[in-house]
Amino acid sequence: MSSGIRKFLSRLQILKTARASKTKSRVSRCILLFAAVLLLPLQSFAAQVNDIRLWRSPDKTRLVFDVSSEVAHSQFFLENPHRLVLDIRGTKKPATVATPGLSTTPISKIRYGVRNKKDLRIVLDLRNKVTSKSFLLKPNATYGYRLVVDLFDSQGTKAAVPERVPSKPSSRRDIVVAIDAGHGGEDPGALAYGGGHEKAVTLNIAKDLAALLKKEPGFKPVLVRTGDYYIPLRERSSIARKSSADLFISIHADAFTDRRANGASVFALSRGGATSETARWLAQRENSSDQIGGEGGISLSDKDDILAGVLLDLSMTSTLSSSLEVGDMVLKNIGTINRLHKKQVEQAAFVVLKSPDIPSILVETGFISNPKEGRKLKTRSHQRALARQIHKGVKSYFVKKPPPGTLLSKLKAEGKVSTRPDQYVIQAGDTLSEIASRFDISLSSLKTANKISRSDRIRTGQVLVIPN
Ligand SMILES: [Zn+2]
Repeated sequence: MSSGIRKFLSRLQILKTARASKTKSRVSRCILLFAAVLLLPLQSFAAQVNDIRLWRSPDKTRLVFDVSSEVAHSQFFLENPHRLVLDIRGTKKPATVATPGLSTTPISKIRYGVRNKKDLRIVLDLRNKVTSKSFLLKPNATYGYRLVVDLFDSQGTKAAVPERVPSKPSSRRDIVVAIDAGHGGEDPGALAYGGGHEKAVTLNIAKDLAALLKKEPGFKPVLVRTGDYYIPLRERSSIARKSSADLFISIHADAFTDRRANGASVFALSRGGATSETARWLAQRENSSDQIGGEGGISLSDKDDILAGVLLDLSMTSTLSSSLEVGDMVLKNIGTINRLHKKQVEQAAFVVLKSPDIPSILVETGFISNPKEGRKLKTRSHQRALARQIHKGVKSYFVKKPPPGTLLSKLKAEGKVSTRPDQYVIQAGDTLSEIASRFDISLSSLKTANKISRSDRIRTGQVLVIPN
C-alpha cells in the first residue's frame, strides 16, 4: 500500500470516530472509490497487440490488429517519406508479432514504439501516398477486439468495380453472371469440421464456376471477390449491378451447432425482404442514379411515388419469380451429386439477394460443420463437381429463357444450342479435346459416352452427350 493511501486511511479513521455511524457506509464507499482511482494507473498498460492480419483487395489494403481489450486510438499522416502513425492508448509494445507479407501493399515496413511510457505507437512506412480509415471492431464468434486500418490506393476505388458492360445493339451481347464467393478477409464465415474456413471453400467454387462459364459461348462470368478480402454485403450486389449482371449467385457453406445437419440448399429473397427493399429503393430513389433494368432501363428519380412504387413492385415480382426458377434448376442439378437439405428453393431476407432487377440466388453448398460433408467440401474434386452442377443449372435456365439481344438467344434460334444441359451441339471450329476441357471431363470419357472411335471425326451440328 502506498504511503498516500495509508495517510488517507488514517485521516479517515479520525473522521470515522468523530462522526456518527450514519455516515459510516458512505465513508467506506469513499475509501473503495479512492483506492480504485489510485490503482488505475497501475492497470493502464492493460491492452496488448496479439496478432496482425493483412488482406489485399483490388482497391485497398486492410490491416487488422487483434487487441486484447477495447482501446482508444488516433491516426495521422507524415510526409517525406510517407508514413501513417497510429497511437493506441494504454497498450503494450508487442514482444513477438509476425509481420504479414507486405510485398503487394503500399506498406514497406511496420515499426513499433512506446509513447508517454504507456501508449503504443505504430508507424507504417508507406511506399506511396494513400488515404486511410481506422476503426475498432467489437468481438465476434471468431475474434476479439480488432483495430482495423484500411489503406485506400490513391487511384480511388475504381479498380474494384468491373467496367460497365456497354450495351451494343448491333452485336449480340454475352449473358453476365456475377459470382459472389461468400465472406472473405477478416470474415472467415463458418468454421469447417476439422479446421479450415467457409471463405476458402466458397472462393474455390466461385472460381471453378467462373472458369466453366468463361468457356461457354455467350456467357461472361464476373467474380465479385477475387481474393481473400472482405466486401460489405450491399457492395456485393452493387458490383453485380455495375457489371450489368443478368444473374447474381452468392456461394456459401452452412454450419449448425448440431453436427448431424447436412445437405445443400438454395435460397431466393423472401416476400417480406422484397417488400422492405422496395420501400428502401423508393425512399432513396431521388439520391440515386440507379435505374431498374440496368443500363438503358427505367429511371425512378423522375416518377411520382405511386408510379415508382408500381414499377419497382413489378420488377421485384418478376425478378423474384426468375430467382425461384433458376434456383430450382440449380438445386435439382446439385441434387444429382449431393444430398439436399430442403427439396425446394427456400426464401429468406438475405441482404445480398435484394436487387430489385437482378435475379439472385444464394447457394448453400452443404454443411461444412458436418464431419462427412465438411471433409468433402474441402476437397478440390467436390468443389469442382459442385461448380459443374451450378453451371448446368444456370445454363439450362438461360437456354430456356435467353434474355433478348444475347448471343445465346441467337444461337438458340438457329438451333445451335441444346436445350438439355447434358448435351452439347458441336459448333464450327470445335475440337473434341476442347469440348472435354470445357466441361471439365476427360477426352476418353467423352468419346466413350458418344461411342466415338479413334478417328475423332465430328461434324458441326452433331449433338454430343456430356457424361456426368
Ligand atoms: Zn456463409
